[in-house]
Amino acid sequence: MKKVYKAHILFTKEKDRFEVYENGYIAVEDGIVVGVASNLEALNAQDAEVIDFGDKLLIPAMNDMHVHAPQVHNQGVAMDLELLPWLQNYTFPEEAKYADVQYAERMYRRFLHTQWLFGTMRSVVFSTVHTDSTRKLMQLYQEAGMGALVGKVAMNRNCPDELCEDVDAAIAGNEQLIKEFNAQCSMFNAQCPPLVRPIITPRFVPSCTPELLKACGELAKKYKLPVQSHLSENTSEIAWVAELEPESKSYGDAYNRYGLFGQTPTIMAHCVWTAGSELELMKKNGVMVAHCPTSNFNLSSGMAPVRNLLDAGIRIGLGSDISGGHDLNMFRMLVYAIQVSKMQYQQNHDKAFLTLSEIFWIATKSAGSFFGKVGSFEPGYEFDALVIDDSVLYPAEYSLQHRLERFIYVGDDRQIVHRFCRGKEVEEPKVF
Ligand SMILES: [Zn+2]
Repeated sequence: MKKVYKAHILFTKEKDRFEVYENGYIAVEDGIVVGVASNLEALNAQDAEVIDFGDKLLIPAMNDMHVHAPQVHNQGVAMDLELLPWLQNYTFPEEAKYADVQYAERMYRRFLHTQWLFGTMRSVVFSTVHTDSTRKLMQLYQEAGMGALVGKVAMNRNCPDELCEDVDAAIAGNEQLIKEFNAQCSMFNAQCPPLVRPIITPRFVPSCTPELLKACGELAKKYKLPVQSHLSENTSEIAWVAELEPESKSYGDAYNRYGLFGQTPTIMAHCVWTAGSELELMKKNGVMVAHCPTSNFNLSSGMAPVRNLLDAGIRIGLGSDISGGHDLNMFRMLVYAIQVSKMQYQQNHDKAFLTLSEIFWIATKSAGSFFGKVGSFEPGYEFDALVIDDSVLYPAEYSLQHRLERFIYVGDDRQIVHRFCRGKEVEEPKVF
């Protein structure tokens, strides 16, 4: 069933500029964009139902490429420590509560609702070590109709006893979820996999023994599943990894040795200190970076070299990384990322700061490539979209591109009036 949406359409096919269709039309069939044009005739869709959004903006939805759902209760608090003591003092005690599935459901509903408010339709998510509450999170995403790669966290050292699973239990729990959720893959073709799928999730090298990392790599290979983890976030962490993995040439190489660095699609959060052989290995293996600017500030980790990564041809997306990060509004993450790049530009004028179209492209089309064809309105892309009513932001005074910029900088969830994921309108999820 073909539908046509009419609005002011903006998206980034290339990172250097916006595609802008003033009073444009976009045709969608079975959740997939089949055409975008300035007039209806060009779409060959005269018989299709036309939904007219008037003077509103229609843009691709947001993708949060690194987020810890069980840290929602700590969002915006406990910003007084660096990464390693912060994990021990705040993060692990909160995650231990997710042994209780009822607590998990209450918190996860809160988390999903906030993502929905801010128009985040796809996410790459850490849960906790707990199989049952991870299953609940996946079910909630399915019910909401929002896309997510959800990882039951693997960790078995340098953590409290209640979050420490032995290798066999960690793999058995993961396999259970993989069987439950991957079984649904056969219902879909390879181009359009299920919206909610598992992702292999070793927390980070210091939390996982070599045996557990090896078992995670084997699991990813066996089930052809993607991998997520953390990489080169903080200098103390990097020094610790060098002690734990003396044979590895870099932190990234430590993952690579266990089949967790691009052997299947891989995304690594932070990469603040990535350079040299680690950068080369990321490029060679096609590893994506989840850039999390607020987390890097809050935990005093540093400023990720996004311009260098872009120049090196590394794939990048943006992550909120709550609760290291404090903000689930991914539009605001675009602003923070531009501001970080401007501070770097101030230090070294050889490196141009990020433009709005570059960061919009990173947040939508570049990030979306981790899910398949997501994040653009070119034909063949899944229709993940937001309708923005910026009428309270004095739109008549601005061009369409400046209207979008103004919404990104000063707008909020109140201006997002429709949300679509894979062509279906996503209704407000229930909270209790
Ligand atoms: Zn993280």
